[in-house]
Amino acid sequence: MEIRESIAKFLFPPRCPICNSLMPFETKDIAHTPCLESLVFGTYVFPHKIDGGRYMDTVHSVFSYSGKTSDFIRVFKARMNVHSIRLVREILIESLKQDFFDGVDMLVPVPMYKNREKAKGYNHSLTVAEILAQITGKPVYNAMAAHTFRRPQKEVPYALRAENVRDCFAVYDKNLLNAKAILLIDDIYTTGNTMNECSKVLRECGAVTVKGFALASLSTVILY
Ligand SMILES: [Zn+2]
Repeated sequence: MEIRESIAKFLFPPRCPICNSLMPFETKDIAHTPCLESLVFGTYVFPHKIDGGRYMDTVHSVFSYSGKTSDFIRVFKARMNVHSIRLVREILIESLKQDFFDGVDMLVPVPMYKNREKAKGYNHSLTVAEILAQITGKPVYNAMAAHTFRRPQKEVPYALRAENVRDCFAVYDKNLLNAKAILLIDDIYTTGNTMNECSKVLRECGAVTVKGFALASLSTVILY
């Protein structure tokens, strides 16, 4: 083991990104095998009609947001580190269908309200977009801003979520979005209201298609 790698391991001893407990110092494993086996995979596809206030063409996700998997996604979001990012990258390489990205011009992350992003130090959706960019070679364009503070969607009852995100997103430069096919990236897809509202704004700026990608989703999405 190189000295630099040893020092990095001493400072950041390997932890299982799923259960967060320490792993043997010399391990090459990305996570405990039983923890990996506890994750619930599956590509969920939610086609949307572009009418009745729905603006997404389709949404894909790779994890079911349930059981141990939802614990892992929460840990991934709370302690985004080299181990959890590596695990997500490996899983996405294994599970993504490359043709899903055919024709996509750019990856656009769902924005966070800037003070919340400053407090956290990162935007989870941007991190997921950057992982996808490494895998697919597609560019990331951090095109959007959440200009108005709203309560986090997870704290808002499902039936009030559409209203909670209404008119709170804007784009920096709409000319860069005109006639583009966009893949909108988020971490968790539940009611779909946040992505739908972003998609509405992107289409108003001339985007021709907006597909969605979420790391995890409820296997049955509640649409309002
Ligand atoms: Zn574990």
